[in-house]
Amino acid sequence: MRLIIMGPPGAGKGTQAKFIAEHFGIPAISTGDIFRANVSRGTELGVEAKRYMDAGEYVPDEVTNLMVRNRIDEPDAEPGFLLDGYPRTLAQVEELDGMIKHTGHALDAVVVLTVDQDEVVERLLQRAETDGRADDTADVIRRRQEIYGEETAPLVEVYRDRGLLIEVDGLGEVDEVTQRIFTALDVVPQS
Ligand code: AMP
Repeated sequence: MRLIIMGPPGAGKGTQAKFIAEHFGIPAISTGDIFRANVSRGTELGVEAKRYMDAGEYVPDEVTNLMVRNRIDEPDAEPGFLLDGYPRTLAQVEELDGMIKHTGHALDAVVVLTVDQDEVVERLLQRAETDGRADDTADVIRRRQEIYGEETAPLVEVYRDRGLLIEVDGLGEVDEVTQRIFTALDVVPQS
């Protein structure tokens, strides 16, 4: 399976991505997690990415694209993968198309978690307390939501036009949402 999970900041993508990946026996590839790992190791990539992440802005496409290209070239991603947090721009969509085509496979489905914006802000502020993420402050959350609306929300229509979109209600208990996703994905034919 080659899958994408999308949704606004705080929709629960990361949590659900882990369950979906486990279910299908594929790696969950989170660009945000890879950036954060680089930030904590103090790598050159981490230093570059941190400036953008702390402001709630997107890391430039060329940096992000190369990182994803290298990651999906790794052997564990050969049978498939679930992308969490990528693509986020139209340019990244095109880049990913090229990467997948190169492997001789196709994208199977794009799961979009739909959520209420106010509920999500509440969740993110809670996450700030438990996980201490530097980009979970009220101002940065607002900027991340804005940029999602401007840059990433249009991707939903792109994938809808391709017939790949699966919209799932992201509100409710974690395992309820997981079940909704599994029910929707279990009928998707694998390429
Ligand atoms: P996330 O954990 O997915 O919310 O990502 C945290 C931050 O990492 C984002 O706010 C961006 O600054 C950066 N980031 C993650 N994925 C991407 C991407 N595909 N393109 C650009 N920036 C990204």
